[in-house]
Amino acid sequence: EYKGMSKDQMLQIRRQFCNPMTMKVTFYKRPVFIHQGHMQWLWDVDGRRYLDLFAGVATISVGHCHPRVTEAAVKQLKTLWHTTNIYVYPPIHEYCEKLASYLPDPLKVIYLTNSGSEANDLAMLMARLYTGNFDILTFGNSYHGSSTQTLGLTSNAAYKYPLPSGLGCSNTMCPDVYRGIWGGSHCRDSPVQTTRDCSCPQGCCLATDHYIGQLKQTLATSVPSRIAAFFAEPIQGVGGAVQYPKNYLKEAYKLVRERGGVCIADEVQTGFGRTGSDFWGFQGHDVIPDIVTMAKGIGNGFPMGAVVTTPEIAAAFAKGVHFNTFGGNPVACSVASAVLDTITLEGTQQNSLKVGTYLMTEMEKLRDVYEIIGDVRGKGLQIGVEMVKDKSSRDPLPAEAVGEILEDVKDMGVLIGKGGLYGQTFRLKPPMCITMEDADYFLAVFNKALSNYMERK
Ligand code: PMP
Repeated sequence: EYKGMSKDQMLQIRRQFCNPMTMKVTFYKRPVFIHQGHMQWLWDVDGRRYLDLFAGVATISVGHCHPRVTEAAVKQLKTLWHTTNIYVYPPIHEYCEKLASYLPDPLKVIYLTNSGSEANDLAMLMARLYTGNFDILTFGNSYHGSSTQTLGLTSNAAYKYPLPSGLGCSNTMCPDVYRGIWGGSHCRDSPVQTTRDCSCPQGCCLATDHYIGQLKQTLATSVPSRIAAFFAEPIQGVGGAVQYPKNYLKEAYKLVRERGGVCIADEVQTGFGRTGSDFWGFQGHDVIPDIVTMAKGIGNGFPMGAVVTTPEIAAAFAKGVHFNTFGGNPVACSVASAVLDTITLEGTQQNSLKVGTYLMTEMEKLRDVYEIIGDVRGKGLQIGVEMVKDKSSRDPLPAEAVGEILEDVKDMGVLIGKGGLYGQTFRLKPPMCITMEDADYFLAVFNKALSNYMERK
């Protein structure tokens, strides 16, 4: 039972003492005051329970306060809170060996950080040192962090400041087959309706050829003949669960490598089994990156991140001394180790595939009923639902309407996220322990919220 300060007190303190941005990013008119979590559930200060389908932005991987992970944290807290790499201590070694076993060759050298932005900062530095080149390419509408360097990678306008940041970073067109200029209608065999269909295994999509042509153009005109790195998420997260057409990433990697660059997969949201069919999102594209960055789900909510690369790139990076006080902290490593054990022992990735596929299949049925659902896409438990004014225009559903539906869903006990360039995409990235019953509950709630909205309209 919650016995702390009142809601009014918290709001007052938030207004007066907290970063003003924290007021802006609250999704709800009537905010949720979270007190406690267990697995896929959250409780507010009044004891009301919510099904959490956003997981602190794909961060809770195996479940809020998962017993095995909590036990590992408590055990380590009673043994050793902190020491640095100056000394040799077991948890970091146990963890690095374990994490490496989840990655394909030659991705075996691990650097531990405290966040995704920090991991991407480090990856930028590594790529530049290794290649001797400076320019870095990312997708339009991407989010890779908010540090001064990673703000250069991030191209989602909402997060940009009118200041120079991340010198040497530029964008290529995001191969978004729903909102981009080339889409599912360019399928060679038969025009497909949605992005998810467009990732069809036949690889027949002409959109790939068009977007690759555009990438070639960018490589020829916007960056010098050699480039340091190409950063991409396997499925865009903040960008709204945007998936790329079949083979795009594979062909892009080839072009970048031909021009001396390394390929970096940002697995901050897609890693650790979230995409269901694969442990890492890049595996779904049949590529092996040169550098992989990770955070969020790695620690199930404990602040942590990592960069994994090849021995060759690591050797080039060893030209200087790299030190990070908290990176590889013993408590973080013990937690992250328990997260990996849990994913394996509980079949978390398989659950992600089963429940995620069911959710998307059922939501496609809702898409066929409601004119305001334009696209259902994603993989496993990294899902996007694109809200539109109507299917033919594909114009984004206005923010107020999206907000109303979001609030209604919350009032019926389910928390989901939103994102996309216009805030038009509902995002589902729950703790991966959710069940089929939870999925059914959400589907009923979502259906009701949509019909409530249509009635009000
Ligand atoms: N990369 C991706 C894909 C992300 O979604 C985020 C966070 N939303 C980051 C990097 C940055 O991570 P952090 O907030 O831990 O710095």
